[in-house]
Amino acid sequence: MKLLLIEDEPAVVSVITRGLSEAGYEVSVAPDGNSGLQMALNNPTFRLIILDVMLPGMNGIEVCRSLRNAKQEVPILMLTALGTTENIVMGLDSGADDYLVKPFKLQELEARIRSLLRRKTNTDIAVPVTAPSVLSLADLELDTDTKSASRQGKSIQLTATEYRLLEFLLKNPRKVLSRLEILEQVWGIEFNMNTKVVDVYINYLRKKINKPHAAELIHTVVGLGYMLRENKADEDTY
Ligand code: CA
Repeated sequence: MKLLLIEDEPAVVSVITRGLSEAGYEVSVAPDGNSGLQMALNNPTFRLIILDVMLPGMNGIEVCRSLRNAKQEVPILMLTALGTTENIVMGLDSGADDYLVKPFKLQELEARIRSLLRRKTNTDIAVPVTAPSVLSLADLELDTDTKSASRQGKSIQLTATEYRLLEFLLKNPRKVLSRLEILEQVWGIEFNMNTKVVDVYINYLRKKINKPHAAELIHTVVGLGYMLRENKADEDTY
């Protein structure tokens, strides 16, 4: 299985390539953002990209954004030395599927890779004909065949992460979902990660689905998490 590693630090490159080769992966390396982007665009056989954020020339966030703009859906695992929420959110928001903060253990990298490849494969499996392809709540609809959302009949543009989050909420209506549960299900992350990213994405999603005069559907359950449900009659709408 072919992976692309975009990383400029020789020591990190050597540890990762050695470890992943032993685990049976075939690793190609790009030492900077520009050449990494070109390799990824010209070579659709890469099953996953490991992308460092701090790179000479084009940085990892820009590479990731360019790949997504070019409709490249390959899973991207971002490596960051900066473990702040802002950087993590910026990385995920640029289209990365997961991230790992340096320094990390090779074992953890391999676990993340397996999880990403599994997640990608699961979404590629054809939906049984009996499964409903449209999930809905009140006037909010999500078509899981076309991956498109709409509210009051008007379409809503979602990023890949926002789509997964909304799909998870719609599959679990009227149920309190904890931040950790959302993190595990939507991001596939089982490690200790700051759940702040869930709040950030819930807010993105709220902004997108809250059309003027439409009722709030994503409710904060103080101290517990979130719940997707219809509005009660006595609640304010906005
Ligand atoms: Ca670097």
